[in-house]
Amino acid sequence: MPSKIEWTHWPGFRGETLNPIVGCSETSVGCDHCYAVRTAHRLAGNPNRAVQAAYRGLTHKTAYGDLEWTGTVRFRPEELEKLERWRKPRCIFWCSMSDMFHPRVGVEWFHRILLIMIAHSEHRHIVLTKRPVRMFDAINFFIGSFCGGHEAVWRRMTKHIAWGVTAETQELLDERVPWLVRVPAARRFVSIEPMLGPVDLTRVTAHLATWFPRRLAGMPPPDKCGPDVLCGTVLREDAGPFSPCRCGNRALDWVIVGGETGPGARPMDPDWARQVRDDCGEAGVPFFFKQWGEWLQWDYDPWDPGDDAQRVFTGPGEWPRTVYRVGRKFAGCELDGQEHKEFPCEG
Ligand code: SF4
Repeated sequence: MPSKIEWTHWPGFRGETLNPIVGCSETSVGCDHCYAVRTAHRLAGNPNRAVQAAYRGLTHKTAYGDLEWTGTVRFRPEELEKLERWRKPRCIFWCSMSDMFHPRVGVEWFHRILLIMIAHSEHRHIVLTKRPVRMFDAINFFIGSFCGGHEAVWRRMTKHIAWGVTAETQELLDERVPWLVRVPAARRFVSIEPMLGPVDLTRVTAHLATWFPRRLAGMPPPDKCGPDVLCGTVLREDAGPFSPCRCGNRALDWVIVGGETGPGARPMDPDWARQVRDDCGEAGVPFFFKQWGEWLQWDYDPWDPGDDAQRVFTGPGEWPRTVYRVGRKFAGCELDGQEHKEFPCEG
């Protein structure tokens, strides 16, 4: 069945998810309402024994009835065989039920998956993580071991693979994006989903000591620098060079924004999404607005300030913005009357 995740609907490709790794553990605020833990729990009770065995023991219920990961992470190499059967080109989102760079994912698992991805250049492959330090290390180790240390060889082999990080807030953007933009990749992207606060991609503030704690021994004391990751400019020399992506001399070639869905979904201020849309438009970076989530702006006065199905955002925008919990389907994906479904260029 094709994936319902809209950003896998890359033009000319059928959207798909593939899960050779299952199981995870929470790592940041975006994991609070993780859909994968709910899905894994449900699949553990699936009547199909093979599915049941794959997902059994990954989740448990706390004393308060909440679902949690147990921390077990499992490799399912049989999933990789699916690629041999697919004849039509697909856009594959890898490990939607986990994180390919979870600390319990063995390096040999990663290599087996990566070699399959490299061999299937007829497809588009999308990898998204909340653990970019491990991604950075794993890719550099692969380049050293399998590409003779030549980045150019690696880039040629992987131009059909997009590497991305999820960053839900500015703080997480500052922490994760500086690692991402140093990954030698032909395609890089950021997914701001669920969007939980205002973000400024034109000024990612990162502590040098956080970026390269091991590598920067001997450097001056921790300081801040502010790269503009949309335009690929570095505002301080000691931030180090970007490795440009496929389309132009930019550090990123795709930005995805979306609100939170499901039980307990948190609202998004429409101005946060507008800011990213406008910054991407100015820098010429493809922008994909996935959906509002469960909440939608409605230009009427709040009808009952005590009602928890509504929320008023004030802040830097011109007017207060009132959003109402209307449900995902009704909220839709139009931003100021327009859909934004851009994909990275094929160049
Ligand atoms: S990293 Fe993804 S799969 Fe893992 S807990 Fe967080 S949201 Fe869930």
